[in-house]
Amino acid sequence: MITRKQFILMSSSILLDVCQKKNYESPFVPYFTSQKVVIIGAGAAGLHAAKTLWDMGFKNIQILEAKNRWGGRIFTNYNFAEFPIELGAELVHGEFSIYKKILDKHKTPFIDKNIEPYIYFESKLQSEKELEENVLFDLASQFIDNLESLSLEDVPFSQVISQQPFGNHPDILAYLNARLGNENGTDNNTLSAKVTAEYDRRNRSGETDFFLKVGVQEILAKEYDQVIPLIQYNQVVKRIDYSQIPIRITTASGGRFEADRVIITVPLTILKQERIQFVPNLPLKHQEAIQKIGMDSGMKIIIKFKKQFWPSNLESFVANGVVPEYWPTGNGRGENLYLTAFVMGKHARYLSSLSNSKQIGEVLSQLDKIFGGGIATKNYEKHIVMDWAKEEHILGAYSFTSVGSSGAFEILGQPISDRIFFAGEATRSDGTHQTVHGAMLSGLDAAGKILV
Ligand SMILES: Cc1cc2nc3c(=O)[nH]c(=O)nc-3n(C[C@H](O)[C@H](O)[C@H](O)COP(=O)(O)OP(=O)(O)OC[C@H]3O[C@@H](n4cnc5c(N)ncnc54)[C@H](O)[C@@H]3O)c2cc1C
Repeated sequence: MITRKQFILMSSSILLDVCQKKNYESPFVPYFTSQKVVIIGAGAAGLHAAKTLWDMGFKNIQILEAKNRWGGRIFTNYNFAEFPIELGAELVHGEFSIYKKILDKHKTPFIDKNIEPYIYFESKLQSEKELEENVLFDLASQFIDNLESLSLEDVPFSQVISQQPFGNHPDILAYLNARLGNENGTDNNTLSAKVTAEYDRRNRSGETDFFLKVGVQEILAKEYDQVIPLIQYNQVVKRIDYSQIPIRITTASGGRFEADRVIITVPLTILKQERIQFVPNLPLKHQEAIQKIGMDSGMKIIIKFKKQFWPSNLESFVANGVVPEYWPTGNGRGENLYLTAFVMGKHARYLSSLSNSKQIGEVLSQLDKIFGGGIATKNYEKHIVMDWAKEEHILGAYSFTSVGSSGAFEILGQPISDRIFFAGEATRSDGTHQTVHGAMLSGLDAAGKILV
């Protein structure tokens, strides 16, 4: 038996085929494609929804974007270093993901380096390989490797970890926070053990991560070249009246738009904070889902040093303290003089509350402690902070599996009255939330649902 999702994807690919091969001659095509679709948000989800519809023959599409740029949480910086720096999404998670396929289509070069993960463990920076002999560390690694098969409760990871034999070791706690909470866009005090394992089990994107050698946005500009011109910038949507057709959309500056269907891809925080008024109100189940799914603070701080003081084969290192994880930003792209501090959850909330000079002071003193001799402070040249919680129209990092969020991602992805279609990374229930490929799939899915 085929599932509804498979049916939708099949229908969209049949229609796509009809549109491409039969030159729009099918009697069904004009009915569908004459509809006006407004897409809210020009991140990966919005652009992918637009491209899918465009390829199927829809030409009456508008994309309303609140910012003066496209990409959303994909944001390549070309000014800070002699190579492009990603202030948001950076890695491709999974060899089977739609994102990897798109990048391969454009012959995107990836970084191929012999690199290793390190940990600041018992006052020494050590590679994970070196630590294999340590019994407690080995148990902690096994805990992570076997998560998907463990029977866990819907409680924060911090609670589950405190009951393990390694649950009192500060460096192991920091390691587990970096690998679980921080990677998932929060910290172990809020990430649900059960729900995280549940959604991880569904993920079929593959285990391999890829770093691009070039800027993400220059590749996506090629993939979405036909739909980027459809974006209207500085359009902050404030009200969506879907009580009748046409649906009426109002923006902060008083702009008015009409549509037969609306695809909403704004970040979860925008919905949580009710920055958009819906008329009528969203169904209760959607309202509950929006509140149940987590979205925390997150930031990247990129620092340039006068000399490299970390191992040349460093992939990343995790440490106890204000920054859970660092990686060398240059990493095969340019000079190895830059580190990226990747900070989510409680640490990001703390750093976000400090002035710019105090923020960098805290980070440098953590690095001085790890590498010794005040080496980070002595060699500091400049830095850049991207604080996503303070970034207008984003207001956080990405969705995460909070306690009680089981089932909420799939509810958020359900259409309302066949008129409102939610997309965006937080609507994925296949374990691809939090990612670029999840956002792209959500756009594909929403476009497919408009057809049936
Ligand atoms: C620091 C960081 C690192 C990350 N690293 C990775 C990584 O390595 N790999 C990976 O796969 N993913 C990563 N992600 C996650 C990834 O960036 C997101 O999952 C993905 O880009 C989300 O795409 P989206 O289209 O769902 O949302 P967004 O990209 O947020 O797009 C939504 C758009 O809606 C717009 N908007 C908001 N409100 C309104 C409004 N009222 N009216 C009109 N428009 C509005 C916003 O301006 C935005 O452009 C990272 C994210 C962050 C923050």
